[in-house]
Amino acid sequence: MSIKDNLNQIQQTIPSHVTLVAVSKTKPVEDLQEAYDAGMRDFGENKIQEMCDKYEVLPKDIRWHMIGHVQTNKVKYMAPFVHLIHGVDSLKLLKEINKQAEKNNRVIDVLLQVFIADEETKFGLDAEELNDILSNEIQNLPNVKVVGVMGMATFTDDENQIREEFKSLKQLFDQHQNNHPEMKVVSMGMSGDYQMAIEEGSTMVRIGSSIFGHRNYNI
Ligand SMILES: *Cc1c(COP(=O)(O)O)cnc(C)c1O
Repeated sequence: MSIKDNLNQIQQTIPSHVTLVAVSKTKPVEDLQEAYDAGMRDFGENKIQEMCDKYEVLPKDIRWHMIGHVQTNKVKYMAPFVHLIHGVDSLKLLKEINKQAEKNNRVIDVLLQVFIADEETKFGLDAEELNDILSNEIQNLPNVKVVGVMGMATFTDDENQIREEFKSLKQLFDQHQNNHPEMKVVSMGMSGDYQMAIEEGSTMVRIGSSIFGHRNYNI
């Protein structure tokens, strides 16, 4: 199946209120161009350097999503063009994004990454840190706009566990959304679990291998 066929098939399973982000990390620009030609405009990358390289050569109406863990010292490279930063998991990082956004005369949209898995390897804020940022810190950061939350479920075959983790993220989102109507995005769900994520309230799914095929990290 071609990238275009994969995209069409996936789009048919996604309701119109859910945004599909095509996760193109490790894939060559030819693959992204093929997805672009099929109508895709939202692309997700997890390395800033790779995203910048692809930004340089691909059409300028692409919306670039940074979905990986962000190192503070690299924010400046993507600040001029990034559309949405999904993985914001510290106040330090928020402050740096605010600083770089200001330098570029922009307000940068971000998602706060919440820790919902039971793995030590995943990044994210806990409920208290999320609350602290949303009720206090964010007021001093005029050049960042928190438009929602992002989470990653545990890597497990246990569907019930994954569903419970998605539920917990949606619940946290709902609690804060009352006071923050500018929050609209719940970014959760990948190739293996996006349908369940949508059932549990996801508004943005990040899908890579089901569109572009499996990734080869050895090249
Ligand atoms: C790689 C990645 C995805 C996409 O994963 P697939 O299983 O290939 O769909 C989604 N979200 C994040 C944060 C990722 O790093």
